[in-house]
Amino acid sequence: MASDVIIIGAGLNGLVAANYLAKAGKRVLVLERRAVAGGQAVTEAFGSGFRLDVLHAGGQLRPDIVSDLGLDVPASRSEPLISVLPGGGQLRLTADSDDRTLASIGSVSKRDAERWPGFVAFMSEASGFLDAAYRTPMPRLPNVSFSEGLPLAKLAMNLRQLGPRDMFRVIRALPMSALELTEEWFESDAVRAAIGAVAVHGATLGPMSAGTGYTLMHNWLNRGGLGHRRVEGGVGRIADALVAALKARGGEVRLSADVKRIILDDQTVRGVRLANGEEIAASTVMSAADPRHTLLTLVGAPELPPEFVWAAQSIKMRGSVAKVHLLTDGNHGLPAGTLIVAPSVRYVERAYDAAKYGQVSQQPYLEITADGAVVSLHYQFAPYALRERDWGQERAVLERSAVDTAAAAFPQLRSSIREIKSLTPLDLERTYGLTEGDLNHGQLILDQMFFMRPMPGWSTHKTPIDGLFLCGSGVHGGGGISGAAGRNAAKVVLKA
Ligand SMILES: Cc1cc2nc3c(=O)[nH]c(=O)nc-3n(C[C@H](O)[C@H](O)[C@H](O)COP(=O)(O)OP(=O)(O)OC[C@H]3O[C@@H](n4cnc5c(N)ncnc54)[C@H](O)[C@@H]3O)c2cc1C
Repeated sequence: MASDVIIIGAGLNGLVAANYLAKAGKRVLVLERRAVAGGQAVTEAFGSGFRLDVLHAGGQLRPDIVSDLGLDVPASRSEPLISVLPGGGQLRLTADSDDRTLASIGSVSKRDAERWPGFVAFMSEASGFLDAAYRTPMPRLPNVSFSEGLPLAKLAMNLRQLGPRDMFRVIRALPMSALELTEEWFESDAVRAAIGAVAVHGATLGPMSAGTGYTLMHNWLNRGGLGHRRVEGGVGRIADALVAALKARGGEVRLSADVKRIILDDQTVRGVRLANGEEIAASTVMSAADPRHTLLTLVGAPELPPEFVWAAQSIKMRGSVAKVHLLTDGNHGLPAGTLIVAPSVRYVERAYDAAKYGQVSQQPYLEITADGAVVSLHYQFAPYALRERDWGQERAVLERSAVDTAAAAFPQLRSSIREIKSLTPLDLERTYGLTEGDLNHGQLILDQMFFMRPMPGWSTHKTPIDGLFLCGSGVHGGGGISGAAGRNAAKVVLKA
């Protein structure tokens, strides 16, 4: 049966969009190039004897998406963020300000412990505002129609409801650096650094970069605090729930279906062509692949207006995240929680400095998670674009400094390691389809947010091609595993 809508990419945003459309009665076909659904939120076999959340260590869809779509998602639990301090101490942070958290902060600063609940309250207000902003369709500036202006006016009302003092504080925090923001709250460098590390998680920015106030709110919103939300049975079960719901609604997911071309006729979508030459017709195509790949590779520059091509080429990707997985004998000695090696703001900023100069940081900011015998190291910073070496040469360096840094924090770890598998930013591009290894499909920076995401004037999910829409992390509402971008895009398509 012919499909009304083809969706490219079975990551969470593609699957969320597919479900909203199928729920509204559309016949939907999702095409995924890999042999498994989930995109970056995937649990799969890896190496010999590994089965794990290969990329993303946890997370949750927005609760309203779960209830709108009636999803049977697995239970998840919030973990504390534990920062390993020099000398072996640990700083434990949670968003519920429990006694253990306050005692832990109190051990580095009594004053900071007193201020923690106020900071958490501020962050939940700020991330609540961001959530509302991510739900609000952005207008196509500079021409804002009345119908586009109305949701914006509603958002402004939302902001006003915070009251004059908090409204001002939230707006002011967006362009601030995480360092400036945390300096206003805390005196301890360890507390500032732990928060600053979460702010730059996944971004090619340091805690002293402008706009990391915004990325802190973004990551706080997606995590529901500072530590990860671990999904029982693995993060891939969220995709399983979405696929099951889609099938129950009559939709289809085809795996190992690599889209090579979006077929056009006179600037209008006619369908897609797969790598095996098969052509599938549809009058609407949504792409959850990143905007640069979609527009410049799947559509192609000759089909697009020159100014638009220039803007698409200018989307800043710049991935600098790598993963190093360690299969251990189980005696790794790691406590439960989202563990980080980010002892001072200066340390994290220095780790970022390396990326600025095209080098792999030798003293990286690490986020360490364990699942049974497998220990996963999220490594920042390891830039996609290396200046003097290539990733063939640099993989060994990456693995060595990942293990050295983690073992310095947890000495028992080294002797427990049986096997190492790493994913460089180049692997993220080749295996997971992330252009330049950018896990957000476009950096989360001030000039690529809200009405400028993925590029100024094109934040409505539409493109210059009739019938082609964008629904992945690279558009307003993304990145992260919230599903917000997919939900927003589906609403636009249904309206169109
Ligand atoms: C190491 C790491 C850590 C992360 N940590 C966090 C975190 O702490 N918090 C957070 O919120 N997010 C985090 N993320 C990001 C988060 O996982 C992503 O933002 C989210 O999963 C993206 O979903 P998506 O559907 O937009 O895109 P993706 O998951 O990238 O899905 C896109 C899909 O499109 C497919 N595709 C691409 N091109 C084609 C084609 N031509 N034909 C067919 N299919 C195609 C891809 O194979 C992929 O399955 C992390 C990501 C990584 C890699």
